[in-house]
Amino acid sequence: MKQYDVIIIGSGQAGNPLARKMAKAGKKVAMIEKRLVGGTCINDGCTPTKAMVASARAAYLAGRCNNLGVHIDGYRVDMPQIKKRRDAIVEHSRSGNEKSLQDDPNIDLLMGEASFTGHKTVQVKLNAGGTEELQAGQIFIDAGTQPTVPDVEGLQEVGYLTSTTILDLDYVPEHILIIGGNYIALEYGQMFRRFGSQITILERGPRIMSHEDDDVATEIHKILEEEGIAIHGNSQAVRFEKDSNGKILATVNLNGKQEELNCSHILIAAGRVPQTKVLNLQATGVEVDEKGYIKVDDQLQTNMPGIYALGDIKGGPAFTHIAYNDFTIVYRNLLEGDNLTTAGRPVPYCMFTDPQLGRVGITETEARKQGLNIKVAVLKMENVARAVEVGETRGLMKAVVDADTKQILGAAILGEEGGEIMSVLQMAMEGGITHDRIRYCVFAHPTYSESLNNLFMKLDS
Ligand SMILES: Cc1cc2nc3c(=O)[nH]c(=O)nc-3n(C[C@H](O)[C@H](O)[C@H](O)COP(=O)(O)OP(=O)(O)OC[C@H]3O[C@@H](n4cnc5c(N)ncnc54)[C@H](O)[C@@H]3O)c2cc1C
Repeated sequence: MKQYDVIIIGSGQAGNPLARKMAKAGKKVAMIEKRLVGGTCINDGCTPTKAMVASARAAYLAGRCNNLGVHIDGYRVDMPQIKKRRDAIVEHSRSGNEKSLQDDPNIDLLMGEASFTGHKTVQVKLNAGGTEELQAGQIFIDAGTQPTVPDVEGLQEVGYLTSTTILDLDYVPEHILIIGGNYIALEYGQMFRRFGSQITILERGPRIMSHEDDDVATEIHKILEEEGIAIHGNSQAVRFEKDSNGKILATVNLNGKQEELNCSHILIAAGRVPQTKVLNLQATGVEVDEKGYIKVDDQLQTNMPGIYALGDIKGGPAFTHIAYNDFTIVYRNLLEGDNLTTAGRPVPYCMFTDPQLGRVGITETEARKQGLNIKVAVLKMENVARAVEVGETRGLMKAVVDADTKQILGAAILGEEGGEIMSVLQMAMEGGITHDRIRYCVFAHPTYSESLNNLFMKLDS
């Protein structure tokens, strides 16, 4: 049994930086990773998708730049080159992470699958063969999630793509049927539509982006439909089979009506599940919830002292910046004597469709449900000077404010660089800058942020 000060399971967005911090503090660290250093974000999440979104936007611009008075005589999408560029970006990031772990004399990087064998003992089934037994006083679980695949008749037989396997394609599929209507479905849907695929989205709930306000989700729906994406709410796949031409024949329930449609590929984007099963947590007594997410307190410690869970595997908002923030809370508490918690931390996020949806704080729906005394400001992007000048007038800016204190409670910015504009509002929220100050704040003209004046002007009474 090898002794360590620290064992980290999963080289994701929390695990990697934590390994380095712990090692720098003089601790002997075992980092266990079963797949690829860097986890989902770098290998099959944020990095590759956003690299491809950039290619998709270039295709979109090539197709419409005549609106700006620039004429291109045709263009061609080169998927092998798009893939090559993307893979190079991923490889650069992954190898940098790998090297920083390998070069650290206090870190042992073990490539293999970890599972608990006892209270603070872990077995690693090494990818190269054989096993190792490890023990440590502190264990950090950062094992993330994986795509969930619904149980639909014929799905296994006809085959399907997930957000991971779709990255293997080096051609443009003819017609992708996407199961799911959240951000992974929409980012991939718009991206492949712009590359030239026909896209059909089936969302089980009444509408896509179920967590967002109705007006925001409706606007996203409209934008995607205008680009030629077919979106069906209240809809599900019933059965899949291959037709006589070898194409996939899908029997679908579209809003109560059973229909058949052909597609060349199926993309499953119906959510993700925690990778807790293989961890054999019962051997150590760490509790999970009914969905398998590890239960933690607001300092990310499990019910077993000295065992922590960080990132997606503990449930809640599943974003890279949240996993990274978990890491900062844990190391500052354990190594720097802080007493930080996850309570009340902001949870901004951005959906990288084009235009982007930048979101922070509560929605209007949530605020009304809580019975808060609010005011709501909405400004269409077609009334934003910057948007008109650059020809990106789709979307809207929306903010929810406290009618009494004038504090900003939440915002949704659906527009070009919506994530950046949202971050300006997040800074205001964190600094307690009220909407009446932003209404008169001097911003450089003509930036998108300048239009925050106009957004909050809507609240002038
Ligand atoms: C298509 C897609 C796009 C995304 N885009 C964004 C985005 O734009 N912005 C954003 O903020 N978030 C995005 N995300 C979410 C983001 O990738 C995750 O929230 C983030 O990676 C979570 O990090 P983590 O550290 O919790 O886990 P992960 O990054 O998933 O890392 C977990 C690691 O643990 C390893 N592991 C699991 N079990 C074991 C075991 N038993 N033994 C050893 N190793 C194990 C896994 O192989 C993996 O490498 C996206 C996700 C997807 C799928």
